[in-house]
Amino acid sequence: MAPIKTKAIVLGGTNVKEKDRLVDLFTLEQGRKLVSMRGVRGEKAKLKMAKEPFCFGEFVLEEGKGCVVTQVEIIDNFYDLTKDLDKYYEGCAILDLVKSVAAASEPKLFIELLQALKTLCYENVKKYYVFDKFLLDLTEFLGFSFFHNKCGGCGATLNIAYFDLDKGCFVCPSCKSESSIKLSNGAFKAVEILHNCDYEKLSTLQLSSGSEREALKLLALNLEWRVGVKILKIK
Ligand SMILES: [Zn+2]
Repeated sequence: MAPIKTKAIVLGGTNVKEKDRLVDLFTLEQGRKLVSMRGVRGEKAKLKMAKEPFCFGEFVLEEGKGCVVTQVEIIDNFYDLTKDLDKYYEGCAILDLVKSVAAASEPKLFIELLQALKTLCYENVKKYYVFDKFLLDLTEFLGFSFFHNKCGGCGATLNIAYFDLDKGCFVCPSCKSESSIKLSNGAFKAVEILHNCDYEKLSTLQLSSGSEREALKLLALNLEWRVGVKILKIK
């Protein structure tokens, strides 16, 4: 088969043989692919940098016995993420989220991931805001659009908000059920602000840390409930 060229981001991988690596690649056109990169763990290997998590580039893939990477033109390896431990872990948590949901070709998710990594790497955003934003958008991207400031049961304006895990939406005190969690006003506001804020503006955000933490807990719980995937506990 003729080689294919695709933009892709490295999500992770495992070492195999003496110098090879089996790489978990998220490609723009074909979704997730397990590809092998030969000899890349050698000191002088040409594709040494391209095997690392976060690496974004144009990958040339050849299908034969498995899929082999023969060439990579690195566009950005987000190297700065490795210089800041907090950012590095937050970035890894974002890659893990992608690993837990991405399978088929999902160009929109690919672009979203790229945007999240760029913001995390180059902008001065408060700890976990990029993760929060990605988690929120990912849930909506999966078809669980849940943020509304009206009750999902009766349509009333929400002054006191509960999040109903069964229904997957915010509800008012009269519509709450056993699967509803009460949310502080601050946390509800934090979800709303994150929902309305683009990645470009995340660096200007300042949420109270209690509200942000509560919002993150809810976002993680909601995604876990919707897709049955355990979200990495990052705090
Ligand atoms: Zn209601």
